[in-house]
Amino acid sequence: MNSEKPVPDVRSRAREILQTVFGYGAFRGQQEAIIEHVSSGHDALVLMPTGGGKSLCYQIPALIREGVGIVVSPLIALMQDQVDALETAGVRAAYLNSTQSYEEVVRVEQAVLHNELDLVYIAPERLVTPHCLNWLQKARIALFAIDEAHCVSQWGHDFRPEYIQLSVLHEYFPDVPRVALTATADGHTREEIVSRLKLDHSRQFVSSFDRPNIRYCIVEKNNARRQLLDFIMTEYRNDAGIVYCLSRRKVEETVDFLSEQGINALAYHAGLDHSVRAENQARFLREDGIVMVATIAFGMGIDKPDVRFVAHLDLPKSMEGYYQETGRAGRDGNPATAWMTYGLQDVVQQRRMIDESSADMAHRQIQIGKLDALLGFCESLTCRRVRLLEYFGETSSPCGNCDICLSPPVAKDGTQDMQKLLSAIYRVGQRFGSAHVIDVLRGISSEKVLQWGHDRLSTFGIGATRSEAEWRSILRQAIAAQYVFVDYEAFNALKLTEWARPVLKGEKTVLLRPYVKPGRRHKTKSAERHSRPALPLREQKLFERLKWWRMEVARQQNLPAYVILQD
Ligand code: ADP
Ligand code: MG
Ligand code: ZN
Repeated sequence: MNSEKPVPDVRSRAREILQTVFGYGAFRGQQEAIIEHVSSGHDALVLMPTGGGKSLCYQIPALIREGVGIVVSPLIALMQDQVDALETAGVRAAYLNSTQSYEEVVRVEQAVLHNELDLVYIAPERLVTPHCLNWLQKARIALFAIDEAHCVSQWGHDFRPEYIQLSVLHEYFPDVPRVALTATADGHTREEIVSRLKLDHSRQFVSSFDRPNIRYCIVEKNNARRQLLDFIMTEYRNDAGIVYCLSRRKVEETVDFLSEQGINALAYHAGLDHSVRAENQARFLREDGIVMVATIAFGMGIDKPDVRFVAHLDLPKSMEGYYQETGRAGRDGNPATAWMTYGLQDVVQQRRMIDESSADMAHRQIQIGKLDALLGFCESLTCRRVRLLEYFGETSSPCGNCDICLSPPVAKDGTQDMQKLLSAIYRVGQRFGSAHVIDVLRGISSEKVLQWGHDRLSTFGIGATRSEAEWRSILRQAIAAQYVFVDYEAFNALKLTEWARPVLKGEKTVLLRPYVKPGRRHKTKSAERHSRPALPLREQKLFERLKWWRMEVARQQNLPAYVILQD
């Protein structure tokens, strides 16, 4: 492949390879610009969503430039597939990892020294060994591609310590271009990739993260498995999909449940025997219409184009996680759905996992911040896509293809109601719980109200037109919006946060979801029985979560947990 020595026109050469070797008509997005840049011997950092086509960004330059392209990839399980695909296309490719015999390794090493290979995939821990570095110094190297480069980041969930050592490539091979590629776009990870891999002078190619063919849809959790089944049966019966769960046990239970319902479901999690995992993965890739129920152990680097849906039965850890996982749907460009069922208990669970993790304080705070961003997304009243892209630093307009755009929640101006609630909390001295505050709002002369003389407050009875349930709904939203928190150490007293101030001053408009009577949404008796005890529990969890938040935010910003407002 590398026989033509001098490359007169990189661009036409790249096009020719795209068509003759890979069989594609045109480049996508920034592929061409990246290929030109790297082929001309420059370093690059490529941020492109999953399925965007990162592989060609190093495969084609490796074919254009003289020597072998060395690809660092953490995905040993997928190396064989990648090499097979390249060989089918006529590219001379091989890999080196721990699964090979000594003879095989020697054969690959010799082939490289004799300039007989275009691309070699190497596991990172092997590449940084003295033996390997020594060997490569005798070879002619076209480029280094560092795939899944976010593995170098300690903040991410895919951290691989071996990746950090890849910084030696810069020292050993200062003249060989390096291209790092990832689908994780947040600024923090990006900075870490640049500094750890010493890519300070590299050009960054940031692609749009929009996946227009994916429809985003988040439903409130009431019976997750049932909801999942309804979703699959009505929209994707007989289609391939991935269902993510947090725990191995839940994976198993969900597979059992779906199988009983006649769905072709398989399990994938780290607790399964290696051979079972490999077998299930292979079946998912090769057979039609399999639903893979998995923990996040499944999916990195999986390139199955016709995954029609990705469903989350549990909340992911972050927007990045959500994006990566949902990004495995619809890689063929045809319509696909990212579906999630979400409840506040998920938040509590994730939050608890963070608190119980062994990570240090700074690390935990980053995780909490990421979880908060995801919650804002889940509770969004505006287009999911806009919110998702916004997180990755992109601006866009409402997509018309998410649950919110397709059926907008009718939020109404609730500024006055919110002000009434906040001032009632303030007037009773931020020392009383929800029942008392609501009595004051509704003008109910309870024994406690009279005892404290709260019937003489200016806020007494200002909310008499609303029912107790309505006020509870407003209160929940006040807590979700972080205007109010519940102080457990002070007998569940409602207290105002810093964020209540602009609302009380009339500087901030508050949108509220209108109150829906439970009976109206859940008509059947069993559903009603279901929903009733759920409400106080949900509220309770919400309180817990917000209390956590408040304390953390206060700690981070060096604030008291609440601020006493001036009269
Ligand atoms: P990534 O690594 O960014 O997740 P891949 O490189 O695995 O994405 O590519 C995803 C899919 O898109 C693959 O099936 C690949 O063959 C296909 N693809 C990449 N570039 C093009 C292109 N220019 N035209 C058509 N298909 C492409
Ligand atoms: Mg890839
Ligand atoms: Zn939308």
